[in-house]
Amino acid sequence: MNIHEYQAKALLKSYGAPVADGVAILSADEVEAAVGKLPGPLYVVKSQIHAGGRGKGKFKELPADAKGGVRLAKSADEVKAFVNEMLGNTLVTKQTGPAGKQVNRLYIEDGADIDRELYCSLLVDRAVGQVAFVVSTEGGMDIETVAEETPDKIVTVAIDPETGVTASNVRTLCEALKLEGDAVADAERLFPILYKAFVEKDMSLLEINPLIVMENGHLRVLDAKVSFDGNALFRHDDVRELRDTTEEDAKEIEASKYDLAYVALDGNIGCMVNGAGLAMATMDIIKLYGAEPANFLDVGGGASKEKVTAAFKIITADPAVKGILVNIFGGIMRCDVIAEGVIAAVKEVGLKVPLVVRLEGTNVDLGKKIIDESGLNVISADDLDDAAQKIVAAVKEA
Ligand code: GDP
Ligand code: MG
Repeated sequence: MNIHEYQAKALLKSYGAPVADGVAILSADEVEAAVGKLPGPLYVVKSQIHAGGRGKGKFKELPADAKGGVRLAKSADEVKAFVNEMLGNTLVTKQTGPAGKQVNRLYIEDGADIDRELYCSLLVDRAVGQVAFVVSTEGGMDIETVAEETPDKIVTVAIDPETGVTASNVRTLCEALKLEGDAVADAERLFPILYKAFVEKDMSLLEINPLIVMENGHLRVLDAKVSFDGNALFRHDDVRELRDTTEEDAKEIEASKYDLAYVALDGNIGCMVNGAGLAMATMDIIKLYGAEPANFLDVGGGASKEKVTAAFKIITADPAVKGILVNIFGGIMRCDVIAEGVIAAVKEVGLKVPLVVRLEGTNVDLGKKIIDESGLNVISADDLDDAAQKIVAAVKEA
């Protein structure tokens, strides 16, 4: 689960991290009060969307030479003008895709005088099974570009869970970031704070890009992106409250109501599969035969007819879907239940695209019989290879 920058900053502030004062607003009426709470004279007006690259982003509705989604304002009037220009418009960044995201909320922040922009993130490093800091002196830009062009400028420091962040870890990080004076003292407090927040709140990513050294020599968290581990949300009521469903894919929200593991993708073949491994293999083989999956969908081991129906509806509701591949191995899940679910869903929502079904496992003969006798226009397949070729061919013909 992702949250907005202003929420991430409030969370980090509650742990004692140095962040600027700021006020989130939903309408232009709130600007005056917001600006009144900040010292000025420099303000930053920041689009709150669940995507990065806002500074260099472009608003669809504004001329190409208009300023981006993060703007520096030197007076209250300029803040007002920016708010009126930005609010409600669609921001396109490297991370939003060409459709962009509507900016419904702006964060007005006290501006900082920047000396250096650094990069600092925490993530779970699966290779070592530990939380790791990833830092670089090259902040404020795409870390992917830095990784590609100057990988030596990225330093990774894994943290031993037995000790937490040690003095030696802090030293390594400070040296990597070339920190001096007050910034070192700030870092000695900040790094353990970030680690504590990450672990306590079950984050999967905490990215500060940039972490800045201000002209007065102190550190400040200038941007913050936080993702939480969805599997741990049940133990964080406070975190769940931060969810902004307007930022999420409507199909993914619907899927989460039925406990379906669903991720929307860009292709045109809808997939209904059981088991994450089989779902991944199904996506791979679709790609192998030259097409692209429209989604990842694992209906789970013991799905009911209702769950299968819901899954099928979510897939068919996607206008990009030009064909559907149902690939089920009935272990705990019985093939006849799948067959009944598919038929119930088709009867309810209709079937406007080719459907290939491959069933294997428990009650497979009964499942196939149910589908054959349904009178539906279903293409049946014998194995995964056969199924993938058939659906790719059907979509290409259509
Ligand atoms: P992003 O583009 O979505 O990553 O948004 P950021 O919050 O990282 O802001 C983009 C850029 O705006 C930063 O890299 C800074 O260069 C600039 N910026 C943001 N806040 C301030 C500020 O308080 N003062 C100054 N001088 N620049 C800022
Ligand atoms: Mg940034």
